[in-house]
Amino acid sequence: MTPDVTTPPAPLAPVAEDWDRALCVVAHPDDLEFGAAAAVARWTGQGKQVVYAMVTSGEAGIDGLHPEQCRGLREAEQVESARIVGVDVVDFLGLPDGILEYGVALRRAIAAAVRHHRPEIVVTNNFRDTWGGRNLNQADHIAVGRATLDAARDAGNRWVFPEQLTDGMEPWGGVREVWAAGSPQAAHAVDTTATFQAGVASLEAHEAYIAGLGWEDWDAGEFLEGASRGAGQRLGTTFAAAFEVFPMGWGS
Ligand SMILES: [Zn+2]
Repeated sequence: MTPDVTTPPAPLAPVAEDWDRALCVVAHPDDLEFGAAAAVARWTGQGKQVVYAMVTSGEAGIDGLHPEQCRGLREAEQVESARIVGVDVVDFLGLPDGILEYGVALRRAIAAAVRHHRPEIVVTNNFRDTWGGRNLNQADHIAVGRATLDAARDAGNRWVFPEQLTDGMEPWGGVREVWAAGSPQAAHAVDTTATFQAGVASLEAHEAYIAGLGWEDWDAGEFLEGASRGAGQRLGTTFAAAFEVFPMGWGS
């Protein structure tokens, strides 16, 4: 059978925006800036509160820099990158970059962040095996995404990680949905046309990291334009960020 190359990709539905608090949980500084940051800028512009939790500090991310020197640099770049899109709180959970394992320890660390910030929406990165096509996803991303999905529910159960429930900390069962940015199985998106430039500036804030990659003539704006235009076409906007939506409740 000859594939029908003229079939357009499936349309994307808009994500819900009737919420006030989101927590973004990703493995590394820079993970949100490769697509989701423009969406964050839109939401903070709407008056929503968005908080970042970095599971690692990306300290193993620059080949020519020892992790002990790298850690502070990458944390500072992430804080600046967050500030550009209206995010004032960036938590660094301090787990080791590059060797994260899916499991109870990771769920525990993320559940603590969920209980602390009490979000309605939790955003993480694509945790499917690929980015679509043959581009393999990275092990830390896969571990963090899966653990985030679980931790969003763990946070609501007072008998799971009960040692966290001290000093007024309560269980939090209010996460409605977890959204995985850039998933090849995304069926939802948000219009980022108006905040596209903030997203570019937010990626450019990872200056030392980008320089360390050694990609000659790489341009953050061009890269994000390429990535955002396809999602935009499917949403009916110029630019968009795509998300795979995981409902946390029952019956939907
Ligand atoms: Zn990453």
